[in-house]
Amino acid sequence: MNGFRKQLATLAAATTLLSLATPVLAEEVNIYSYRQPELIQPLLDAFTKETGIDTNVLFLDKGLVERIAAEGENSPADVILTVDIGRLVETKDGGVTQPVESDIINSDIPAEYRDPDGYWFGLSRRARVIYASKDRVPETEITYEELADPKWKGRLCTRDGQHQYNLALFASMIAHHGAEYTETWLKGVRENLARKPDGNDRSQAKDIYAGGCDIALGNTYYVGLMMTDENEPEQQEWAGAIKVIFPNAKDRGTHVNISGMALAKHAPNRDNAVKLMEFLTKKEAQEIYAERVFEYPVIAGAEPSDIVKSFGTLNADPLPLIDIANNRKLASELVDKTGFNEGPSM
Ligand code: FE
Repeated sequence: MNGFRKQLATLAAATTLLSLATPVLAEEVNIYSYRQPELIQPLLDAFTKETGIDTNVLFLDKGLVERIAAEGENSPADVILTVDIGRLVETKDGGVTQPVESDIINSDIPAEYRDPDGYWFGLSRRARVIYASKDRVPETEITYEELADPKWKGRLCTRDGQHQYNLALFASMIAHHGAEYTETWLKGVRENLARKPDGNDRSQAKDIYAGGCDIALGNTYYVGLMMTDENEPEQQEWAGAIKVIFPNAKDRGTHVNISGMALAKHAPNRDNAVKLMEFLTKKEAQEIYAERVFEYPVIAGAEPSDIVKSFGTLNADPLPLIDIANNRKLASELVDKTGFNEGPSM
């Protein structure tokens, strides 16, 4: 080997050493998300700016738990982001997460929005409210219990009774009133349906706009999404036809569900993942996120967007989400037992 080659070899060895050291220099965290990347990107940019940790997002619209399970110990997943208590519980039950012990998370996020064992944490809240026709519903207060009142016969619309959003609401009814009451209540609600449960939350607002029903169950953020929909401007008319009524605002509070996060079981960048999770509980991040998704922050002192504030004031039911999770299966059985999805029997 001549001198030049020797020099090159030395250089190559040095480069190899350098590239071996690279992982330490390039800090990163991998996020598996059911949330659209554009919804979380502003948050992740703020995180990278503050910490220098890069973020990589894998967006999935289904099969997140199965995918992480299949990847096993080699899974690059660090943080899981998803919506609904049902899906959060699936990540724990599917064995693809690990508990987190963080004083910051535990002190900032109220206990009702955290798994008691530390396997999942709420990031934002959505309320399941009543969309009511501005023209045909003079009422300003309606309770969930009253949805079974015969005065609403033929006037109520909803999506599938087995959908996660409805199951969580029905599970909260079981937690508050017991299974027997909830079964009777579901039968009453079923008889008030204007048609078989169908469509998504936005299409219930469309039905109210079109005169097919007067009240419907729907999540708060869809009202903000409809109000600002530029691709399908008719959605702004659907939103314009409804007012938001927060059920039980004056007693136990309105049922809320959460979007949330969990730490992947084999997180290769565990420390960075926990840093990201802690960052997401800060007031600044909470408000960026809430504004972007038209939801409510989970921490005290953080404000929702002006559009969300325009719906009215949320008085959230303080029922722990774990109690909702634990009653979901029973809620699902009652939906079948009462023939809820078959629509009114008379
Ligand atoms: Fe949704």
